[in-house]
Parts: sequence; structure tokens; C-alpha cells
Amino acid sequence: MVARMEVHDAKFVAAATKNDALPPPMFAEVAFAGRSNVGKSSLINSMARRNKLVRTGQTPGLTRHIQIFHLKLRDTELDFVDLPGYGYAARSKSERASWGPMIEGFLKERVGLRAVLVLVDVRRGLEDDDRQLLDFLDSIDVRSFVVVTKVDKLGANDRRKAVTAIEREAGRRVLPYSVTSNVGRDELWKLVLELCHIVPPAS
Ligand code: GDP
Repeated sequence: MVARMEVHDAKFVAAATKNDALPPPMFAEVAFAGRSNVGKSSLINSMARRNKLVRTGQTPGLTRHIQIFHLKLRDTELDFVDLPGYGYAARSKSERASWGPMIEGFLKERVGLRAVLVLVDVRRGLEDDDRQLLDFLDSIDVRSFVVVTKVDKLGANDRRKAVTAIEREAGRRVLPYSVTSNVGRDELWKLVLELCHIVPPAS
């Protein structure tokens, strides 16, 4: 059994479209990445136990900002970084071209960053953009894990198959998650605290 995480406070800190416009890191940071509509905003809200910390269901591609959120737990504090969703076809060429350098710059240079959670929709599986990001993170020695979102959308059998396929392809630890049933929340919190070198409370 993994202990249930209490989030005492969760608040928006900053948003920017350029890395040098972000405040310097003050706490350990875990970043969330994934294709537009993968369920990233919903997952951050679910982890933070807030309905509207991040706005969900936005026009895909509209959020081009890196956003930072600060969370206070019982004994500790850390930051979540919401990276802009990628892979939205209707984006203009210049917008698509600017995604890479901004995110790559952030991932390479952000000294507070402990790990990146790459979100993958259970029904879509790992796609080219996800693979490229995972390869890039490996190449710069940033730890990464895959969170498989919306697992409630598949029955138990299909879910297991899909998660196993993603795990095999991604070649790293994979955590299934659903915001509707809270599957995976306690496990993901445990992982996040480990990544931030914070020991989770005993269960
Ligand atoms: P984002 O673009 O990656 O931030 O995705 P959102 O969090 O806005 O979610 C996109 C859509 O997927 C919304 O309609 C959400 O309600 C839905 N969604 C997100 N997570 C889940 C989930 O775990 N289960 C189900 N059934 N729907 C989800």
C-alpha cells in the first residue's frame, strides 16, 4: 500500500514562453510533457488535488507557455513544471519550429529539474514525438518515465496489453493513470518524491 499524499497548498508561480523569463528554480522540479490533449492538465490537477490549478480542455496548441506550479506537502515543498503540449498538426510552422528550441533549452539548462514525466494516451500508444523526446532526454542524461493516461478508457485486458506494449517500446518504467478513478495517483506521488530525494511518509 502506498500512502495517500496530502497537498496542503498548490499555486501557480510563473509562465513564460522564453526560458530566461522564468524565475530561477527554488525547489526540486518535476516536469510533465506530452502531446496536446493527452490529459496533462487533468493529471497535474489530480496530483495537486485541485480542480482548476491548470485549465483543462483548452484549444490544443494554445498553451505555448512553460508553467511552474508550487506544491506544499506536509513536510516538504516542490515544483511541477507544465511543458507545452506538442504534436498539434494545426500549429503554424513557426510555432512548431519554436517548440523544440525552447523545450530543449529548458530541459538542458534547468538546474532544478529532477526528471521528466512523459505522458502517453493509452489508446494512442507511443508516437514519434514521444520517442524523440525520450531519446533526447536520454541523450542529455535527464531521467524520464512514462505515465500512461486515461487508462479508464480501456477494459482490463486491453489496458494491460496497451501498457505492456508502451513499456516494451519505451524501455523504461511506465505508470498507468486515470484521473476519473485516481488509478496511479499514489504510486506517481511516491515516484515523484523519490525523484526529488524526498522520502515519502510511511504507509
Ligand atoms: P492536455 O491538453 O494534455 O492538458 O489535456 P486535458 O487535461 O485538457 O485533457 C484532455 C481531455 O481528456 C479532457 O476532455 C479531459 O477531460 C480528458 N481526460 C484527461 N484525463 C482523463 C482520464 O484519466 N480519463 C478520462 N476518461 N478522460 C480524461
